[in-house]
Order: sequence, then structure tokens, then C-alpha cells
Amino acid sequence: MTTPSVQLPDRAGRLGELARDLWWSWNPPARQVFRTLDYPLWRLTAHNPVRMLGLVQQAAVDAAVADPRWLAMYDQAVTGLDAAHSARATWCARECPALSGATIAYFSAEFALHQSLPIYAGGLGVLAGDHCKEASDLGVPLVGVGFMYPQGYFHQSITVDGWQQETYERLEWADAPIEPALTPDGVPCVTAVPLGNRTVLAAVWLVRVGRVTLYLLDTDLEENAPWDRDLSARLYGGDRETRVQQEIILGVGGVRVLRQLGITPSVYHLNEGHAAFVVLQRIRDLCERGMDYDAALAQVRGTTVFTTHTPVAAGHDAFPFSTVENYLAGAWGDLGPYRERFLALGHYDNGGGAMFNMTALALRSAGAVNGVSQLHRDVTKEMWQPIWPDTPREQLPVRALTNGIHVPTWLSAEMAAVLDRHLGPDWLQRHDDPAVCDAVLDVPDEEIWAARQALRTFLFQFIRERARERWTHEGWSGTRLVAAGTMFDQNTLTLGFARRFTAYKRPDLIFSDPDRLARILNAPGRQVQIVMAGKAHPADDVGKHFLQRVYRHALDPKFGGRIAFVDDYDLHVAHFLVQGCDVWLNNPRKPLEASGTSGMKAAINGTPNCSIGDGWWAEGFTGANGWLIEGPTASREPGEQDWIDAQALYALLEERIVPAFYARDLHGVPRQWVQIVKEAIRTVLPRFSTRRMVKEYVREMYGPALRAPLPVA
Ligand SMILES: *Cc1c(COP(=O)(O)O)cnc(C)c1O
Repeated sequence: MTTPSVQLPDRAGRLGELARDLWWSWNPPARQVFRTLDYPLWRLTAHNPVRMLGLVQQAAVDAAVADPRWLAMYDQAVTGLDAAHSARATWCARECPALSGATIAYFSAEFALHQSLPIYAGGLGVLAGDHCKEASDLGVPLVGVGFMYPQGYFHQSITVDGWQQETYERLEWADAPIEPALTPDGVPCVTAVPLGNRTVLAAVWLVRVGRVTLYLLDTDLEENAPWDRDLSARLYGGDRETRVQQEIILGVGGVRVLRQLGITPSVYHLNEGHAAFVVLQRIRDLCERGMDYDAALAQVRGTTVFTTHTPVAAGHDAFPFSTVENYLAGAWGDLGPYRERFLALGHYDNGGGAMFNMTALALRSAGAVNGVSQLHRDVTKEMWQPIWPDTPREQLPVRALTNGIHVPTWLSAEMAAVLDRHLGPDWLQRHDDPAVCDAVLDVPDEEIWAARQALRTFLFQFIRERARERWTHEGWSGTRLVAAGTMFDQNTLTLGFARRFTAYKRPDLIFSDPDRLARILNAPGRQVQIVMAGKAHPADDVGKHFLQRVYRHALDPKFGGRIAFVDDYDLHVAHFLVQGCDVWLNNPRKPLEASGTSGMKAAINGTPNCSIGDGWWAEGFTGANGWLIEGPTASREPGEQDWIDAQALYALLEERIVPAFYARDLHGVPRQWVQIVKEAIRTVLPRFSTRRMVKEYVREMYGPALRAPLPVA
């Protein structure tokens, strides 16, 4: 925890508290408090108030406290924080009183809450972070359990030749919004986790997210052997052996941590299979209280909720049985006699022989399972049918609960200001009501267009400052600066593509016919530019080759300096991209994109999607709120399908997207374009918000799990 560099006057005495509750990050008055306290420092620290308070000068604090407007904001922020913590009149208290006094434990290997806490890699983490923030807003009694990775996820840099380099930075603990979690006795919580024949200790960090608390496990303790200290060092950084040990620490250790903290969850939500060892510790606990194995499994099943996130095979961890048995050696306790039966829960043969599969374990031990879009539900049923060999496909216990995004986190201040003026007071409180958002259609076109222009300008300023940084401090060549977007034009139609570089997302699809693309980008008076970003998984050389190809295109003069690659994609970069681009491009190989969420973030800011009908877009596209990339026939041969999809994409750009963007009236407003923008906001904002999503989790998953009958012990 940072000690402030200066003496905080009593009048602003709660600044430290405000900085250490990530609630500040999605509540405008609190953001303004830090932003205006010292704007250069706010920029320098990439919006990290904890770090700011360690660096700020006394003069800046004194000036702020002498300014009545700043004090008014501060008071508003502090009042808001208190209200957020104390309010009993929450949605959850009204709608689901059964949950009051209960606790939902939400387990996830990553949480993306803010760039100052780099414990996430991508979409899975963003979903978990947004889920927590929304649970706080709705008053859902949730605690998160995850890892505090001291080195987090890697930072990406790109060589002259377009090859991704990974660097890991040790997180400065004092600059992060974390504090040691204390047991009810007031001592720092340290939990012993059995791992093979040894015991590993895990310290626990606490992160405040409004009403929600996160508990993050960290094995970097002096008492641990050096190799054990490293177990939690990096997210997805290690080999299979590291991974299985991390997952035992998360699942087995996480349950023990909650017990030690005096927290007794009623429902456990496993966000992806990584955390499925939770059920081992829980069944063991019940057996040790005298329950027999079947009854314990039934109780655990009735109170476990599982969300699966991908149809891609590599996304489902599977380990050789010998490895799992090896590392679980000390974990059985009274479950020992049922060891074989427990291991059978993870049994799954994906073609290469039976393995212990974490998703299989979760599917067999959760009473409620969901995929993250309607299409993904169907794909999940098909994929995991062998788990339930005797059940007809239609009756498989997998439901669809489509992902969403936390609107206050992702909606830009500019678009929020427009909506505040026209959607009625408190619209944000009711934004999951489609009728509230229908009023977007009545907003004057000029206001929407002005916000769009401003957001595109902010993106370009961001891109240019990044390039300036690389030029000044890293000595980048002129050519590389072009590939960083320095020749971008502020009024040109800008496509955005930012996602993980991996084969199924086809990052180079738009380059299938380079000549045709060059004609589209360079059309006089109707130019197009493309900004791309994204990391490849450190072990994914195929993904790195995609990135390299894209980077080489960005260097190629044929495209006129109209392709930019922004390195080190993270939450901070994502905000600028989803808000500032004009069109959000998504062209996965269907049906491998389970949901996708970046397109939702884009749409609510008036950046319509141009996407394959996969994931959320299969249910989000209305015909009027963006574009559907739809080839004439679905081909079975991937290369052929890629070509067909690329042709469909080019045709959309040439015939629909570019003409609509450049058709201006006498006032310079593209009326038809603004109509599409409005439809994007109107249709996506209510339906693809975590507000709708978390309410559904409460009603359809948590509520029923809470009422699950307890077997007689
Ligand atoms: C939203 C987000 C993602 C997920 O985007 P997809 O649409 O699922 O590809 C990944 N990374 C970051 C930094 C994000 O903000």
C-alpha cells in the first residue's frame, strides 16, 4: 500500500481510501477527483490514483483543497462511495431477498478490472472484471477468488521485422490497489495448500471493487521453496506442470482461503474450467463432516454454477492422470477412499487417449452450466455430448446466458454526455430496459456525429503520442512510425481490429486480396484506414506469424500509411480503440468465437460492428445496426471459406460501408451513417450489458442454486 508522498489535509483525508477502491474507476465524480488533482500525473501514471498519491506534490493537493469546485467533486465522490457500500435498496435486495446474507464465490484465473492491476490476458478476464463491477452496482453479494500474479501478463513489443517480444515486469506492489487480506482475528491470511508431497503457502491480497471484494492468492512467500514462489508469478506463463499446480492452488487453496477468512459461500461460480478443483476441496470438506461421497457430490453439484467460454479445444485444460494424481497426493483427506470416483469426474478422451479434463470435471460437478451466447450453447452441447452419452442433445443441461459488458466502464464520457441529455434522468440506472434506449433515435444527428468526431480525434491523439514515445525514447525509424499510425488522417473512415492473434480469429483475412484492399484504402476522397492491435499467446507461434504478416503490411507503402499496429493491447488501449474507431471488424472462423465482447464495447459508443455471424453477433445483428459478413455458401474447406468471407467483407466495404460514411448533407453530417450508429447504440446497450447478464445469472443460476435441497447428512 502506498503511503502518500504528502500530508493529506483532513478536508481530503479520504483520498487514499477512494484510490484503493476500484469503484472510483467507473464513477465519474471519483475519476474527476483524481484527473483534476494533477492532470499530467494522471496521464503519466496511466490513470493510477494509488501511484499518483505516491508522487503528487504538496502544492497540487493544497491547490485542489483550496478550489471549491474540486471539493464539491470530492464530496460527491466520497458520498457516492459511502452510498455504494451502505445502500440496502439495491436491485438484489428487492428482487432476490433470498440472496441477502448469502455469498456467491466467483472463481476465475483472471480479472480485468483496471490497467493498474495487470492480472488478465483478455476477454475472459474482462468478463470477470465486468461481472464483479456489475454485481457491486446491483448489490449481488459476490466475492471473487483469483491469483495475484506478481509479474502479471506480458508486455508486448514488436521487432523491426514484426516479431512479438514478451517482457514481464514485476508489479510494484505499492502502486497497486491491493492490501493484505486479514482473517477475523486481524492477522494476514496465509493458507497452506497441499501440492504433491509438500505444502505450499499462499498469501492473500484483497482488492476492493465497490461492494464486491476480490481475494487473490500469491505464493511468493519467503517460506516457500524458490520454485513454489514462482508458481503464481505469471498468468499463463508456465508449462503444463505449472498450470496444473496453479489450478490446484486456485481451486483447493481458494476454498481454504475463504474458510480461513470466515466466509461461507452458498453458491460457487466457476468461471471457466481452471477453477474446477474447487469441487474437490468442497466434497472433501463435506465427507470430513460425515457425509457420504454421493451425498457430498450431490450437494456440491446443486450449489455449483459453471460457465464455459470457448469451443476451441486448446482452451480446455487437460492433464495426464499421472500428473494430476501426483500433484493431488496430499489433497485427498477423507476423500481418499473415493479417489478413483473423483478422478473419473475429469475423465475425457478427446481423441488422443483419456486425460483428466478440467472442463469435464466442471461439467460433471456443476448443477447449472451455461455457454456465453445462444450459438455457443449449441456448439457446447455438440462438443461435450460424450459427457452425457444417454441424454438426447436437446435435453443436455447447458443453457445460453449471453455475455455483456459493464456499461459505466466502457461508455465514453462524450457519448455518455449525449445520452444524459436525451435519455431522461437516471437512464443509466435503467439502461437494460430497451424502451429507455429507444430514445437514442430522437437524439439530433449533429450531437451524435459531434461525439463520434471527438472520439476519433482522441484515438488519433493517443496513437500519435504512443508513436512520439517510441520515436523519442526507443529510436524507432520513420518507417516504423508510419506503421504506428503517424500518417493517419483525422477525418478518414477508420476500421478497428483488436483481438488476440490466433488462427481462428483470422487477423489477416482482410489482406486476402492485397490489391483490392489497397484500392479500397486509397480511393481518392473516400480513403479508409485500419488500426490493429492484439497479442499472440507467448507459446503460439502461429499467432505470432499472423502478427508478423500484418505488421509487414503496415510497413508496405502500397497501403499508403493507412494501416497502423498499436502494440501492447490492454484495457487502456482498448478504451481508445473501441470508442474511437468508426467500424469494429470481427472475422473469426465460425463457430469458434464463443461470444466476443469488444464489439459490444464498440457498439455502445456508436462504433457499429462489421462481423461474421458468430458469437454474440449471431443474436445481436438486427439488419440495421451494423453489417453481417456473410459469404454465399458455407464451405467445409477452411482456405476456401476464408476467401469467400474475404470477398463478402470487401463487397460490404465497397458497396455499403464506405458510401454510407462519405455521403454527407449540406451540414457535413452523414445522415444514413448516423442512423446506423444510433441503431447500434439503441439495440446493443440494453441487451449486451452486464446489467442484463448479471440479473440473468441471479435469476437463472444463483437463485435456483441457493434453493438446491440439502441432502440429509
Ligand atoms: C474486451 C477485451 C477483450 C475481449 O475482446 P474480444 O471481442 O473477445 O476479442 C480482450 N482484451 C481486452 C484488453 C479487452 O478490453
